[in-house]
Amino acid sequence: MSEPLVVIGNGMAAARFVEELATRALGRYAIAVVGEEPRLAYNRVLLSAVLGRDVKSSEIELKPAQWWRERGVTLLYGHAAVAIDTGIRRVRLANGMTLPFTNLVLATGSRPIRLPVPGMDLRGVLTFRDLGDVAAIGGAATKGTRAVVIGGGLLGLEAAHGLAKAGANVSIVHLMDRLMERQLDARAATMLQRAIEAKGIEVYLQASTAAIRGACRVEAVELADRRTLDADLVVVATGVRANVELARTADLKVDRGVVVDDRLQTSRAGIHAIGECAEHRGVCYGLVEPAYEQARVLARRLAGDMSATYAGSVLATNLKVSGVNVFSAGDFLGASGTESIVFTDPGLDTYKRLVIADGRLVGAVLYGDTEDGLWYLDLIRSGASTERIRGDLMFGRALAERMAA
Ligand SMILES: Cc1cc2nc3c(=O)[nH]c(=O)nc-3n(C[C@H](O)[C@H](O)[C@H](O)COP(=O)(O)OP(=O)(O)OC[C@H]3O[C@@H](n4cnc5c(N)ncnc54)[C@H](O)[C@@H]3O)c2cc1C
Repeated sequence: MSEPLVVIGNGMAAARFVEELATRALGRYAIAVVGEEPRLAYNRVLLSAVLGRDVKSSEIELKPAQWWRERGVTLLYGHAAVAIDTGIRRVRLANGMTLPFTNLVLATGSRPIRLPVPGMDLRGVLTFRDLGDVAAIGGAATKGTRAVVIGGGLLGLEAAHGLAKAGANVSIVHLMDRLMERQLDARAATMLQRAIEAKGIEVYLQASTAAIRGACRVEAVELADRRTLDADLVVVATGVRANVELARTADLKVDRGVVVDDRLQTSRAGIHAIGECAEHRGVCYGLVEPAYEQARVLARRLAGDMSATYAGSVLATNLKVSGVNVFSAGDFLGASGTESIVFTDPGLDTYKRLVIADGRLVGAVLYGDTEDGLWYLDLIRSGASTERIRGDLMFGRALAERMAA
């Protein structure tokens, strides 16, 4: 008989996990997937494209209903899991239904951070995490809407771009001294800021939000230095926090995320966590590739391959703003003991910085020409020596490989 396996969360990590498991051990488990969002799993990365009206929300579904059916998966979407009884090994849903499990996978993702300032609950103050948010933002943004995006990271920039495309007058308020400081060095961030401003978006750096003002709807954002930005709509994109409430109430070990070991097992045998809700070796990842790598490792293990372990991921980011190419991976700032090779071509609006340590590429920032980003990422991940191609490394794969041949 198939063993009951429950997956909580119907997002990107969950969908990939089921896919990987089904290709390896179809029939071994009776899989049930519980998802709070009232729809099939979709590609969250493409929400910016939906907001920018480049794709329709119906086009970002990861797998059609039939795909899940053919693999015998019981899909319970539109239902939140509200409790895990680790003693009798059952998950309880908000509608009272309970599901037995021998193995449980937590894939509950993250929730947007809400700012601890007055006015966060006013109408017109929105976050940017799911299709519901995109519908709310899209519905509120029309030509001439004054929109303030709080947060100048990847999500904030993509939200700002989507709003600007819809005809809104957009400002970005960012606490730090440069945009995307977690992915870009100062030079690349300055170039990015110029490109964003050229799209008609105003950027306020080192700007701390003190309050959001309004009678019952948002009317303005007040900064700590007393400046006030008029606003009909505010999108808060100041980061995410792992969604751990369920794990905490089930007495699983939780720190910033649900703590897992290299087997992706939580503090309880048979209960696993993957994706943004998981904390591995002290890191909660906020990108999809680590979630996919974790999904693959866990699927291999549950299919019987006990040699599969997860050792962590190298982070890489691409900004999805049309006409602005940005790529960043690994140690892009260069820790002590590393050296940087830098190339700038103001005429082509291109900047590249490659960070080398012990003859190996360990980080890269590319602005403008990002074509070789994935090649650099492969080199970083493989840890291969770049000594032989060092002189040509900056000029990309085609040249470096030709010269090395
Ligand atoms: C606008 C946007 C753009 C992005 N762009 C990029 C990008 O360019 N590159 C990149 O790498 N990453 C990007 N990301 C991040 C990427 O989407 C996430 O890393 C990825 O979705 C993580 O997958 P996950 O399954 O862990 O979480 P999610 O995809 O968030 O899935 C978690 C699911 O669990 C559900 N859930 C939570 N609690 C419960 C419960 N108690 N019961 C039932 N269901 C529950 C949630 O409703 C959600 O559907 C972007 C994210 C956003 C929002």
